[in-house]
Parts: sequence; structure tokens; C-alpha cells
Amino acid sequence: MIEHSLHDLGRALATREISSVELTQLHLERIARHNPRLNAYITIDEARSLAQARAADARLASGKGGPLTGIPIAHKDIFCAKGWRTTCGSKMLSNFVSPYDAAVIAGFEAAGAVVLGKTNMDEFAMGSSNETSFYGPVNNPWRAGCVPGGSSGGSAAAVAARLAPAATGTDTGGSIRQPAALCNLTGMKPTYGVVSRYGMIAFASSLDQAGPLARSAADCALLLNAMAGFDERDSTSLNRPAEDYCRELATTSGDKPLSGLKIGLPAEFFGEGCSPEVMALVEAAIAEYRKLGAETVAISLPSMKLSVAAYYVIAPAEASSNLARFDGVRYGHRASQYQDLNDMYSKSRAEGFGAEVKRRILIGTYVLSHGYYDAYYLQAQRIRRLIANDFAEAFRQCDVIMGPTSPSTAFKLGEKAADPVQMYLSDIYTIAVNLAGLPGISIPCGFSGGLPAGLQLIGDYFTETRLLNIAHRYQQASAWHLQRPDGFD
Ligand code: GLN
Repeated sequence: MIEHSLHDLGRALATREISSVELTQLHLERIARHNPRLNAYITIDEARSLAQARAADARLASGKGGPLTGIPIAHKDIFCAKGWRTTCGSKMLSNFVSPYDAAVIAGFEAAGAVVLGKTNMDEFAMGSSNETSFYGPVNNPWRAGCVPGGSSGGSAAAVAARLAPAATGTDTGGSIRQPAALCNLTGMKPTYGVVSRYGMIAFASSLDQAGPLARSAADCALLLNAMAGFDERDSTSLNRPAEDYCRELATTSGDKPLSGLKIGLPAEFFGEGCSPEVMALVEAAIAEYRKLGAETVAISLPSMKLSVAAYYVIAPAEASSNLARFDGVRYGHRASQYQDLNDMYSKSRAEGFGAEVKRRILIGTYVLSHGYYDAYYLQAQRIRRLIANDFAEAFRQCDVIMGPTSPSTAFKLGEKAADPVQMYLSDIYTIAVNLAGLPGISIPCGFSGGLPAGLQLIGDYFTETRLLNIAHRYQQASAWHLQRPDGFD
């Protein structure tokens, strides 16, 4: 049962081959057994999950279930879920129990899915390795002592070790795609505005986007159906007609299902910066795409080299503003001893935030301050526009862009923790996609020294359905995504 796709789980539930309570218990039992060495979950609430599972069973019995009814899903602890402790990986929110559901949680609730637990993450989603979490690092299921990627590292580790059938994540600069690559999963960041950010704790609001982390593109499509949709509570949510993201997956079209597809290969993705082992796997995957009928064209994204620099101005600027709300007054950590109001603010924030969050707040405040705004923030915004223009130009020449997701496979815990710039460079291939607001997906494309690598697919705005289909065709022709780590029986 733990190897079932979401589609097959849905069928097993619908035919009563298994109940939601049994399926939830099966995963809770696996979590109890394996989570201590992974640290993938921050919060488990068996009674709450099982109550939801019983409700799902009743719904299934009445014939009113949908494809996700009764399936337990793990949620990144950045999503507010009613009655659940919601920490965002921070001491600041270690005592916060959410009084309401995020739009994403409500979407799954409406679909009848069960909340299996809240997963570990980098503090306020700032990181690429899950090492900035107040709750400690997560181990990569493929190799203990290696990072699972970040910031959605707990979600990725949970799904890879089969401690959840699927999970949610968020991606501000790569935090769904990069852990997907490092844990052999499929993870999608949709077009900015497709999934509501309501109730998703804000890091950098113009970049943050929620998406699915699962074992296949077909599973991701099913999850995106529950997550996407217009929401008037998020002013950046896009009011577009509802889509069925699964709709292209069922069609069959012979052994060249992608004939006519033009894949753009940007020079900037295939130059320096990527480990030769990962590059070899990416190139082999692209060769596989040619066999499926696609053709490749050389393209260029000339401003892409500025994306990390621009991101590390814009994201901290927005974070410094978003995190101003954590002042010890309304919710979250409050220092126990202080002299006056200002002292209470500063002690609460000094105690509640970790080092990386403080670094971002300092950078963000600096680049927004009078006298530096024009030199840093405004320049970064201009670069952002140039990057978006590069992609617009590229999509006149191709249908989809491909390249590596992460420049390396999983690195060792602690290896980059002391050098923030090294850590920031983990995202060289993912960040431009967020700056432009485009959809991107990472899919497994092989192993180097026993560790998985990811192929990244980037599409034009609102091409999620097609991207998922392009990923799915590769997964029909390959078996990388079916591999699972040893030691989690
Ligand atoms: N690694 C990037 C950062 O630290 C991106 C994180 C994310 O996507 N949430 O900001």
C-alpha cells in the first residue's frame, strides 16, 4: 500500500479495500517507527488525524468521496491549520496554535483528505538545507548525515521515506524543486498566483508560492487540483477558470508522445556551476526526451547570472517587512523579562528568531533604508524585469526549458552551514523562475554515488497542465521516480 500512487490509493479507498482510518494508522505507525532518525515531522496529532479519517470513511461510505478523499497528506509547517500547532520552523511560533485554516489546508479538507502531520522546514522557509529549523535538521532518507534540501525538507524526507503518500511545500526561490531533486521526488512550483497564499506564513510575498511534493507528476496533478483556485482573500490570487490538471495525462499517443515539442536548453544552465555527475544525468534525461519525439534548441537567458544577487536583495527586503509582525504582542514568543515596551520587542525578537532569519532582517532593512534603496532594492527590481524579459524571449523559441534543478546531489549536514553565500548558490537554477513568476517542476533523473538528482522543467505562465504532462511522459518511459531509499520497510 505504501508504494501506491495517489490514484491507486483513491481507488483502494473507494472500493473499501482499505479504510481511511487504516491507511492513516499505517502511516502514523511508520512515522512512529522511522521519524526519530529523520526528524521530518515537527507535529503529529493522532487523535485529530484519525477523527478526520473517520469522517472521510463516512463520506466514502455515502458515495460522496472524490479522488483524494481519505488520503493522508503531510503539510509543511508554514500552512496554518485550525487546531494544529503551526511553527514555521521557528521558536518564535513554537507556542502558536492556529485558529484558522490556510486556503491550501481548506482545499484539501474540502477534497476529504486527512492532515497527517506538520513537517519540518527551514525557519520561516529561509534556507536550502533544512538546517536553520529551530527543531533541528532533517536527515536525507537516501543517506543519513546528508541534507534533504530545503526549505521544504521535512515534506520531502517524509514522502521519500514513505512516511506520507504526498505532501505540500512552498517555493520562494527553489524550496519545492530543490528538496524534490535531493530526495528523488517530483515537486512543482506553480505560476505565481495560481495557489492562494492565504494562511501561508509569509516570507517574501511576491515570490512565495505553494505546490505539491509527491512521487510522480500524476500525483502532483491530483494534488494541484485541490490546491489551485481563485481566492479573494489573497490579493495576488488570479481569477482564472478552474482547470483539471490531470486532463492531459490519460491520453495515449504512441511511442513518440512528445513529437513537435521544442525544448530550450539555456547556455547558462549548461556552463560552469553544476557538478559533472549531475550534468551527465541531466543530459541523459534530455536524450530520453529526444527519443520521446522532442527536439532541442539552444537558447540564452543572459540576465540569469544576476538572479541570485537580485533575489538576496528582494527576498530579505520583503521578509524584513513581513516579519515585523512578530513583536511578542499578539502571538508567538514573548520574552519573560523586560524593562519596557521596546525592551520587550527587542528581547522577544532576539530570543525568538534564529541566526539566518536575523541576517535576512538586517539585510532587508539595510537595502530598503533611505540612501540605499536606489542602489540595491530598485536595481534588484530592474534586474527582475530583465530576467522576466529573458524568459519571455526564450518562450518565443521553445515550449519548455530544461536544465538541472540543483547544482549538486545532497551535501553533508554542516558542509555549507557556516558559509551563507555557498548555501545561497544552491539555488542558482531555481531562483530566476520565482523572480519571473513562472511554473517549474523537478523530476527524478537518476543517481550519482547512490544519491538522486533532479531535472528541472520550466514552462511559460499557466502551462502547469502541459508541464505535468511532459514530466509524466518521461516517467512513463523511465523508472527513476519509482526508486525508494533502503531501510524504511
Ligand atoms: N534557499 C532560498 C532561500 O533561502 C529559497 C528558499 C525558499 O524557496 N523558501 O531563501
